[in-house]
Amino acid sequence: MRKIFLSALSALMLMSAPMLDVHAQGIDKKNMDLSVKPQDDFYKYVNGNWLKNTKIPESESVWGSFSEIDEYNRSMLKTILEESLAKRKTVKKGDNWQLLGDLYASGMDTMAIEKAGAEPLKQYFAEIEAIKTPEDIVKLIASFQKASIRTPFGFFVGSDSKNSEANALYLGQGGTSLPDRSYYFDANFAEKREKYLVHLTNMFVLIGESQEVAEKSAKTVLKIETRLAEAQRTRVDGRDPVKRYNKRTIEELNQSTFNIDWTKYFEMVGVKNAEWAIVGAPEFLCMVDRMLKDVSANDWKTYFRWRVVNSAAPYLSSAFVKESFSFFSTTLNGVKVMQPRWKRVQGWVDNNIGEALGQVYIERTFPKEAKTRMIEMIENIREAFAERIQQYTWMSPETKQEALTKLKAITCKIGYPDKWEDYTGLDIRDGDLIGNMRRLNERGYAQMMDKFGKPVDKTEWGMTPPTVNAYYSPSNNEIAFPAGILRPPFFDFKADDAVNYGGIGAVIGHEITHGFDDQGSQYDAKGNLRMWWTKDDRQKFDGNANMIVEQFDAYKVFVNKDSVAVNGKLTLGENIADLGGITIAYAALQKSYAKKGKPKKIDGFTGEQRFFMGWAQVWRIKHRDEALLNRIKTDSHAPGEYRANGAITNMPAFFEAFNVKEGDKMRRKPNRLIVIW
Ligand SMILES: [Zn+2]
Repeated sequence: MRKIFLSALSALMLMSAPMLDVHAQGIDKKNMDLSVKPQDDFYKYVNGNWLKNTKIPESESVWGSFSEIDEYNRSMLKTILEESLAKRKTVKKGDNWQLLGDLYASGMDTMAIEKAGAEPLKQYFAEIEAIKTPEDIVKLIASFQKASIRTPFGFFVGSDSKNSEANALYLGQGGTSLPDRSYYFDANFAEKREKYLVHLTNMFVLIGESQEVAEKSAKTVLKIETRLAEAQRTRVDGRDPVKRYNKRTIEELNQSTFNIDWTKYFEMVGVKNAEWAIVGAPEFLCMVDRMLKDVSANDWKTYFRWRVVNSAAPYLSSAFVKESFSFFSTTLNGVKVMQPRWKRVQGWVDNNIGEALGQVYIERTFPKEAKTRMIEMIENIREAFAERIQQYTWMSPETKQEALTKLKAITCKIGYPDKWEDYTGLDIRDGDLIGNMRRLNERGYAQMMDKFGKPVDKTEWGMTPPTVNAYYSPSNNEIAFPAGILRPPFFDFKADDAVNYGGIGAVIGHEITHGFDDQGSQYDAKGNLRMWWTKDDRQKFDGNANMIVEQFDAYKVFVNKDSVAVNGKLTLGENIADLGGITIAYAALQKSYAKKGKPKKIDGFTGEQRFFMGWAQVWRIKHRDEALLNRIKTDSHAPGEYRANGAITNMPAFFEAFNVKEGDKMRRKPNRLIVIW
C-alpha cells in the first residue's frame, strides 16, 4: 500500500522506533530510578535506569520502547522472508510466496546490483537530456511522478476534505531534499549545508561528472532547492486544514500560471476530464511557474539528474548506498553504521507488498483475543469520553451535541484489514531489483489513478500490520491500530487493567482525541471540513489550546550544548491528543474499577500509580543529537520526555496518585492547569 496520504493522518509517532523484559504486571522496576522523586521528574523516576543503561545501537538514530517492539516484529518478518526464499520455488508465479521471495531475493542479490552500477539510471537521464523549454520540463515532471521520482510539485488523488465520500485531485509543494525548509537558511544549519554540497558533488561524480563539473552542479542544485524552500509553507502553516484547502478550477489554475498548461498536465499524468483540483499552497505553484522560465534548461537538467539519483540511491550499487547513508543518516541523523542489508530490504518489502507479508505475520503472531480486548477497551474509553463531554461547563449544549455525534461515529480498525490486498498481475522477478521497484511504483500509481472518479474506499489501511504505530484519519473519522503496536509495553495480556489503560488505553484516547484536536476538531462526524462549533465555544477551545502552545514552547532541549525550544505550535495537535488521551483513559480505568473493584497494590504500587507508570514507560526514548535536532524541526511530536511529563503536570488525578504538592516541579500552577478534553 502506498503511503501518499500519510500527511493527512495524525499518527501517534511517525518514526519507527527489543523484545522487552517486562514484568508480569507490565512494569519493570529495573528500569526505574528510585533516587529521583516522582514529584520532581516522573519520566526519570520511571525510566531513569533504562536511560542510564541503554545504548542506542550503532545503526540507529533513536532507541525507545517503539524500537524495542519494532525489533521484535522485524525478527518475525525476517523468519517469514527467509522461508519465502525456499517457498517461492514451490508455488506458481504470482502467488504471495513468489512475490515475497523474489522481491526479497532481488534486494539481497548484491552481485547483480553491483554489476549494474549506474546503468539503471540511463533511461531517466536520456529523458532529462531532451528538455529544452518550460513545456518540456512540465512534461518531465508528469513523467517522473509516475515513477515516484520527487518533483518540484506533487499531485495525488485522495478524499476531498469537504466531501469525504469522494476522491479529489490534490496539488502539493515539494522539490527539496533536506528535512525541512529551515535547513536551507537557518544559521545553525550552515555546516549541514556545506556537507550537503559535498554530498551532492560526490553523487554527481558517481554518475560520471568530473570533480570540477560536479562541484558546479552541486551549487546549482542547492540554489534551485533554496528558492523552492523559500516559497514553501512552514510546517506550522501546513497544519491548517482550511488554509491548505484551495479549490481551483483548471481554468483558474491556467490563469494563475504562465508556463504550466494544467489541462495538458492533467492529461499527461493520466487524469481525463479534470475540472478542478485542491491546491495546498497556490503561491508555491506560482514560484515554480516563474522558475520554469528564469532557471535555464541546463540548470534544470542538473537538478533533475540529482532527483533521479537521490530517489534511486538505496537500490543502486554500494558506492551510491554508502554515499547516501553518509549524508542522510550520519550527517543529518548521527547514525554510525548502516543497518544490515536484510533490514533495509525488509523495509522495501513491507513498504511495497506489506499486506502479503503482513498476512503471514498476523497468522503467526496475532491472537484473536487481542482484538476482542481492544474493542472492549475502545468502547469503555468512548463511553468515558462521552460522559466527560456531557459534564463540561465550558461548552454549550449545541456544540456538545455535535461532539457527541462525532464521537459516536468514529469507526475502528484493529490489527489488520478485513480483506487483504490482491496482488494479481504483479510481476516480480529474481535478480531485477530496479525493474521490480519500477513495476511496483507503476502499480501504485495506477491504483491511485483508479480511485479518481470513484467513491472513497474506507476499508483501506494507512499502515501495514507490523507497523508500531497508530493513527486517526480525519476524513474517515476512524482510529486504526496495526497489530504491530499491540504488544508490551503498550498492551500486555498478562498485565492488569492499570498498565494497559496507561499504555494502549492512553493511545486509544490519544487517537480519539485527534478527532477533537486543533485540526481534527474542524472536521465533522462524516469527516468533512466544516466548523461545527459555536463561535463562543471555539474561542474558549482556542484559548485552552494556546495555553498548551505556551507550555510546550517553554521546554528547552539541549543539542550539542545548544538549547533548542520545542515548537508548541508544530506539536499542538499531538499535545492536545496526549492530554486528552491520558485523561480519558484514566476516567475509563476508574469506570472499570467501579465495576470490578480496585486491585490490591502490586510491588507496592496502587492501580492509579501503575497507570501513570505505564504511561511514562511507553515514552522512554534516547536520540542521537542530530536526530533530536531534526525531530524538533520536523516532527509534530515532541520528544518522549516532554510527552510523558507534559500532559500529567496538568492532571489532578496524577497529583493525587503520587502526592504531588503545589510548588512541586511536576505540578503546574493552579491558574495554569489546562483541561481541554
Ligand atoms: Zn498523534
